[in-house]
Amino acid sequence: MASSIVLFGPPGAGKGTQAGNIVKMTGKPQVSTGDMLRAAVTAGTALGIEAKGYMESGQLVPDAVIIGLIKERLTESDAINGVLFDGFPRTIAQAEALSEIAEVSIVIAIEVPDNRIVERICGRYTCGACGAVYHDLFNPSNDPNVCDECGHIGMKRRADDNEDTVRNRLEAYHAQTSPLADWYRERGIFSAVNGDQDIVKVGEEIAAIL
Ligand code: ADP
Ligand code: ADP
Ligand code: ZN
Repeated sequence: MASSIVLFGPPGAGKGTQAGNIVKMTGKPQVSTGDMLRAAVTAGTALGIEAKGYMESGQLVPDAVIIGLIKERLTESDAINGVLFDGFPRTIAQAEALSEIAEVSIVIAIEVPDNRIVERICGRYTCGACGAVYHDLFNPSNDPNVCDECGHIGMKRRADDNEDTVRNRLEAYHAQTSPLADWYRERGIFSAVNGDQDIVKVGEEIAAIL
């Protein structure tokens, strides 16, 4: 299989925000485990029922569930030339499993200090139709109810985008996910960009790497 890209970083780093441009540049489809899990929760599937409690409390969903989800996703025809992973892998075990089913050519880490994360997550809202990502202060839509990208009326806010859950998600990130940076560094495919600057500037740094 052709090579995939991993977008790496803490919750609220701007992975979803930057993914759109990377998809346009590379033609690789975005594979967001968070989006897939939320779809499963909404659909009420067995997987969604299992994942829901972990997501609501800001803990990671068990590796076996996530790895199963990714294995299935990679059998779809649009994954044939590789994909853009967003929010996966999040543990060493997930990265090891991934290395057996797909080739990762580059890991792009978006670095943002902890003290920025809460304000980012608590101001986040997304288009209910196309998923475009906005922020109350840092990236507002022209009209707070209307998507600039697709014109859809109706924005969504995530139930887990509250301060308490964000603290748990950050803790999970530092304990379970951040060790992956060294894991990928040792494999020579890790690049970091400064995520604590204007959205356009972050995008330019990423484009320079690609
Ligand atoms: P992630 O996918 O990594 O969780 P998002 O892309 O959803 O992160 O971004 C989290 C929030 O921060 C969103 O409300 C988004 O509009 C905002 N955001 C993203 N990048 C930046 C940036 N460089 N500066 C300020 N706010 C940003
Ligand atoms: P964010 O980047 O804003 O933290 P995501 O949408 O990526 O949010 O993930 C939302 C929730 O879904 C996480 O808090 C976690 O419970 C679960 N999740 C998503 N991806 C993974 C993964 N790769 N491994 C384990 N849990 C995951
Ligand atoms: Zn939209």
